[in-house]
Amino acid sequence: MGSNAKQTKYIIVSGGVISGIGKGIIASSTGLLLKTLGLNVTSIKIDPYLNIDAGTLSPLDHGEVFVLDDGGEVDLDLGNYERYLSVKLTRDNNITTGKIYREVIDKERRGDYLGKTVQVVPHITNAIQDWVERVGNVSTSEDGRAPDVCIVELGGTVGDIESAPFIEAMRQFQFRVGHDNFCLIHVSLVPVVGAVGEQKTKPTQASVRDLRGLGLSPDILACRSAIPFEEGIREKLSMFCQVSPKQVFSVHDCESLYHVPILLRQQGIIDVLTERLKLNELKLSPEVRSEGESLWVQWSEFARRRARDLDVVNIAVVGKYTYLTDSYISVVKALEHAGLNVNRKVKISWVEASDLEEFSMHKDPLKYHEAWQHMCAADGILVPGGFGERGVEGKVLASKWAREHNTPYLGICLGMQVAVIDFARNVCGMTNAHSTEFREACEHPVVVFMPEIDRTTMGGTMRLGSRPTKFQDTEFARNSKAKKLYGGVEEVHERHRHRYEVNPEVVKELESKGLKFVGRDAETGERMEILELENHPYFVGAQYHPEYLTRPLNPSPVFLGLLLAASGQLDTYLSGGEIAKDVDTKLKM
Ligand code: GLN
Repeated sequence: MGSNAKQTKYIIVSGGVISGIGKGIIASSTGLLLKTLGLNVTSIKIDPYLNIDAGTLSPLDHGEVFVLDDGGEVDLDLGNYERYLSVKLTRDNNITTGKIYREVIDKERRGDYLGKTVQVVPHITNAIQDWVERVGNVSTSEDGRAPDVCIVELGGTVGDIESAPFIEAMRQFQFRVGHDNFCLIHVSLVPVVGAVGEQKTKPTQASVRDLRGLGLSPDILACRSAIPFEEGIREKLSMFCQVSPKQVFSVHDCESLYHVPILLRQQGIIDVLTERLKLNELKLSPEVRSEGESLWVQWSEFARRRARDLDVVNIAVVGKYTYLTDSYISVVKALEHAGLNVNRKVKISWVEASDLEEFSMHKDPLKYHEAWQHMCAADGILVPGGFGERGVEGKVLASKWAREHNTPYLGICLGMQVAVIDFARNVCGMTNAHSTEFREACEHPVVVFMPEIDRTTMGGTMRLGSRPTKFQDTEFARNSKAKKLYGGVEEVHERHRHRYEVNPEVVKELESKGLKFVGRDAETGERMEILELENHPYFVGAQYHPEYLTRPLNPSPVFLGLLLAASGQLDTYLSGGEIAKDVDTKLKM
């Protein structure tokens, strides 16, 4: 960094009392509010585990693995940041203990510390600070402006053994960057207990004491609670945690997560941050300021729309980890964004794929019938990505059902592959068609292992990240719904995460019967990326994961298509008509 380079301001977000209280949402909402001032905001997520990245973690443990443009497989919180801040992050924006130790150990082996004992303090803590500072200066926004502010979310809970080196690094970091460039938001829990539902401040007091004991003091206390602060709670927290009442924020359960920025803004977080970080001293052009203002208008309108009484659209999501919706968080967000942009409220019916299978009828007829009831009642069906054999036959059945009953269908990654399996088996007569992921030696391998993929190492070896897909130059592809939804462009850039692909050898046969591969990879043209079924209201499959690039104000096109079709508006939309009559604002933002 040159001597006159701008100093990024850092907002550290730590958590106390328990994990999973919504630090990520509070951190991204704060970032969004700073964006509405015209500031350029980036973010870093710290995960204090030894895995190098989230790629090898089960979605059951940590929720969905989020994929970035550069192929980084990261924590789902990075998805929140991308969606709220409209940025494109890189794998470096996700720090794990594993990455930091790997870096330090590699240096030790190279001899960089020759003669010294390598220790957690100072070597690990320095490596953390260097990393944060390096990444905090890198632009992640579309306009390429250097960040004014970097939000650093520290995973885990203050006091954990795992997060200790990071806390110590941040303690030192406040002096490295200076008081005006460092501020700390501590997210805590104010539980409501007892028959009368009294709010308790003790856990917050204890966690702030822990934090102070480690050398960090909160500038903002964000208190999660089921209800707004009762009388005197703010004052009590202020007194016992040694912060002024205006530094204490109630982040109670509210209408939707999109309301969190509204909640924080109403309680004056912008003033507190402006004063604390001397934000007024930053010189911003009138253009970026007014861009910020209009972002706020759009956001608050969007959040309010969420609260309105909208017609419901039923989408059946046929997956595997369906009792943990965090496993599909981006899919849920993409549905929600698309729904709100066509003025509909999405109701998701989670269908466990294996419940749709024949054997389940004998094993648990109730579940079987319930699952099929959801399918029959669905206005649209979505089969998201997945790994492993369990539930695959159920997913094939889901896609068959959608195909035969003209139910709008979106298949993502594995969801596209099962559509190919169904079509090959039931339309093209390849009765034993399968993916070699599940039947190594099958008679009709219609989905096969990609030649360049490494079979020996699991971490980071899939086809990952952003790759260009080119729409085909055929009559059908030119007029395809998918292409129109993408605005008629020739090429789309979406993110991938897979090892298997449609077997190029069967493409001709499938296409001749009506399953058209309208988008293929731009490099070779041999990799099937987007499929669309002939003579169907909406039957689209994508080998990539469109859900990673959805934005509240700019939903993913293929999800938009699903919602439009499921609410009977697709044809009007594609022929250039208005969507949803009761719209009171411009919808295509
Ligand atoms: N298991 C499939 C593959 O590796 C699908 C992956 C996915 O859905 N993300 O190709």
